[in-house]
Amino acid sequence: MHWADVIADEIIGKCDRPLISTGISPTGFIHVGSLREAITAEAVRSAIESKGSDVKMIYLIDSIDPLRKRYGFLDESFENHVGKPICRIPCPCGKHDTYADHFIQPFLEAKDGLGVKCEIIWTHELYEQGKFADAIDAAIVRREKVIEILTEVSQKEKNENYAPYNPLCPKCGRFVKQADFDSYVRPYLRYRCEKCGHEGTADITKGDGKLTWRLEWPAKWKIFSVSAEPFGKDHAAAGGSYDTGVRIVREIFDGEPPRPIPYEFVQLKGKGQMHKSTGSSVTGIDAISMTPPEVLTYTFLRVNPERHIDYDSEMGILDMADEYDRMETFFFEGGAAESDENALRAYELSKHNNIPKKMPLHIPYRHLVNVVQMADDIGGVLEILKRNGDFDNATDDDLARLKQRVVCVRFWLNGFAPEAVKFSVSKTMPDVKLSDDESSYLRSLVPLLSASEWNAEKIHNIVSDAGKNSKIGTKGGFQALYKVLIDRTSGPRLGHFLATMEKDFVIRRLSL
Ligand SMILES: [Zn+2]
Ligand SMILES: [Zn+2]
Repeated sequence: MHWADVIADEIIGKCDRPLISTGISPTGFIHVGSLREAITAEAVRSAIESKGSDVKMIYLIDSIDPLRKRYGFLDESFENHVGKPICRIPCPCGKHDTYADHFIQPFLEAKDGLGVKCEIIWTHELYEQGKFADAIDAAIVRREKVIEILTEVSQKEKNENYAPYNPLCPKCGRFVKQADFDSYVRPYLRYRCEKCGHEGTADITKGDGKLTWRLEWPAKWKIFSVSAEPFGKDHAAAGGSYDTGVRIVREIFDGEPPRPIPYEFVQLKGKGQMHKSTGSSVTGIDAISMTPPEVLTYTFLRVNPERHIDYDSEMGILDMADEYDRMETFFFEGGAAESDENALRAYELSKHNNIPKKMPLHIPYRHLVNVVQMADDIGGVLEILKRNGDFDNATDDDLARLKQRVVCVRFWLNGFAPEAVKFSVSKTMPDVKLSDDESSYLRSLVPLLSASEWNAEKIHNIVSDAGKNSKIGTKGGFQALYKVLIDRTSGPRLGHFLATMEKDFVIRRLSL
């Protein structure tokens, strides 16, 4: 059985109205691993939904988390904002309301494409609405018990001064590490800011401070009655924040922990992991922009969350797309091996219970990479595909899928694709030197191609046979063709490549 179904069955057995929780702390560029979290959560949601249960998913944006340091991508002015909550720091580009908005916005735009169906919740608003008040109250009143639990579970030295709640100083805008917990009378807590000396009173029912991470997490479980939650394996380590959270939610907040779904990190593989124009490494947004969303989702769901995934932003993208298309074919036409059972279910889940009625039209992804490079826009792509009969009987859904894939291919070509796959067809004869043998080979093709049907197989046979019978051989013949067409000595598979061009154009180019 697919892992998402195993988890779904377990959750349905325990709760009537399951709630999946996931989230992110948008303090910087969204990493590919964060996508795995969202996709994992969505798969469990889809699996529960497919079994007829009423399921909900929430996505918590930890917008009150402090900026921990000035990251390399921030200019010097951000030095002054370290320690402040990211919902109160200006956006780096000037176009968004806050720092948190700046980094989460691209993800929010991408999430619909990924089909993640969730309610977005901003954590700073939960504090402002007083949703955390009971948890903050319990954590302060029972602070000694909290300290005892944290010490026992994490096996660290006891910290008598542990502060479960950090007031937010209105004067310097930073979190205050200590507070006068003896002064606490609900809802007020007195403190003195270590940074600026301001003395104040925090109201726990307003956005005047926040719980520390080890308490905030289980407090969310209690507030939303979370049934299941995926999280990075670092939180799952023995004595880590999941373990302390389990005891805190039960013993301090009188709630139950969610079914944990720890997931392994996504490793970036290959040389091309740096964006060629920006010089930064692959972000989650890059991954969504260059991998068709259903392909990315399928790739993540095919393996158990506890196994690591290599994400190769060079040729790996093409392999991922081929594998997805292969499984889609099996799904509609049968022929999958028994060992493909989980992969087939991963395909279904990647469609979020919304599977097309008939097999979508497949344009092999590698072929599309070539076609995109021969066309200026989607109109040009369609013209080439129609010329070859590759887009006959296409539906609106097929066209939508093609458009999205073309956008992904272009993003990939502009940022991450290896040089070897890139080419451009020279509109006029490139300035190349041809030997007499090469010239006569190319000229010999003119009458043969003119008389031939214009399809990949026929063209391939003509150019390779003519090469075999010439002085330069098949390989030399191919090189001569690449030279006059794309000013290189290698390129896409020739039969297909020539077939995607207009016959007259090719004949003219070879009539030396
Ligand atoms: Zn911005
Ligand atoms: Zn202060």
